[in-house]
Amino acid sequence: MTLPKFKENLEKYAKLIAAVGVNVSHNHSVVLNIAVEQQELARLIVQEAYQLGAAEVIVQWQDDIIQKEFLSHAADKFLTTIPAYKVEEVNSFVEKGASRISVVSSDPDALATVDPHRVAVYQQASGKALFALRQATQANKMSWTVVAAAGPNWAAKVFPDLASPEEQVDALWDQIFKTTRIYETDPVAAWQAHDAKLATKAAELNQEQFDALHYTAPGTDLTIGLPKNHLWEGAGSFNSRGEKFMANMPTEEVFTAPDRRRIDGVVSSTKPLSYAGNTLTGMKFTFEKGKVVAVSAEQGQEVLEKLLETDAGAKSLGEVALVPDPSPISQSGITFYNTLFDENASNHLALGSAYAFSLKGGTTMSEEELEAAGLNRSQTHVDFMIGSAKMNIDGLRSDGTIVPLFRNGDWA
Ligand code: ZN
Ligand code: ZN
Repeated sequence: MTLPKFKENLEKYAKLIAAVGVNVSHNHSVVLNIAVEQQELARLIVQEAYQLGAAEVIVQWQDDIIQKEFLSHAADKFLTTIPAYKVEEVNSFVEKGASRISVVSSDPDALATVDPHRVAVYQQASGKALFALRQATQANKMSWTVVAAAGPNWAAKVFPDLASPEEQVDALWDQIFKTTRIYETDPVAAWQAHDAKLATKAAELNQEQFDALHYTAPGTDLTIGLPKNHLWEGAGSFNSRGEKFMANMPTEEVFTAPDRRRIDGVVSSTKPLSYAGNTLTGMKFTFEKGKVVAVSAEQGQEVLEKLLETDAGAKSLGEVALVPDPSPISQSGITFYNTLFDENASNHLALGSAYAFSLKGGTTMSEEELEAAGLNRSQTHVDFMIGSAKMNIDGLRSDGTIVPLFRNGDWA
């Protein structure tokens, strides 16, 4: 590692993740999901969490290679059946309201050589088994945060032209530190200011209560209805104990839920999507009455079709997010092949489930009530990027008035 002050910055980063990401305080349980090669960061996060008063910190180690071996060779029954003890473990996290830290660092193409059918079968089984966890997370019952670490294979994919693996990893760490404001004198204060800015934008949109949004760009002409009493949110969220947390770092988006029944037109992706260990590019979706009726991709068509077959909800949308093209991540011009970064460079949508907190009173509603209110339900939630400097978006009021919202990729 030749990045100046790397150790010092990694410590600041660990502190930010524990203090702002999931806002650890007295007596909290914390679950940390992280790759084996990120041992140094893992140890720092664990130390910070205990220093902030955590009662316990549980580390769940991940490894791309072992996961690939499992998905390629494990007997079929282990792909389709998640053992009860694993489900129980996860349900115990939900019961004690444990905060979840997910550090993503995977090779975007880690599973490119694995049969997409086996990957899809396993994802479907774990989606079902981990339903309670997903439901609790999507209703913000507990604090959760997704952050990144520079995995060597991921860094090589983002910076293929740099000479050595060390330079590639350094360059990716540099971007992670930049976009999470670690180089600021006081990163925690910088995040509070950023949070306030996005909260103001969300409040303005909540005031407006648009009936629908109309997107136009090359390859895109799409109208998305918004449910009554939808709520826009940006940056900081609150868990059911009323504690603030930051679901994603970096984050530049304000987002809400679409009305799953009122999505019509055509939309084209503008950035590669890393999904299920594969890179998907040049995706085009046609929607009718809220459902995808046609889809194509330049790369990864089969993986995309499998995703849409997950369940009925996978063919509709669960998130509409606005990110101005002049956002710092977009201006870096780098394609990260990682949704945490690429979604924050671009207006995006998500196939699959909506967040219950995107609707007024939604976190106390049943699945059926959420669905009746227009919120999409699914086992999956996959963001894909549609924004560019050529995108215009109009807000449509229920009285028919059209309000310019985005012009040439930026707030109008
Ligand atoms: Zn998003
Ligand atoms: Zn999303």
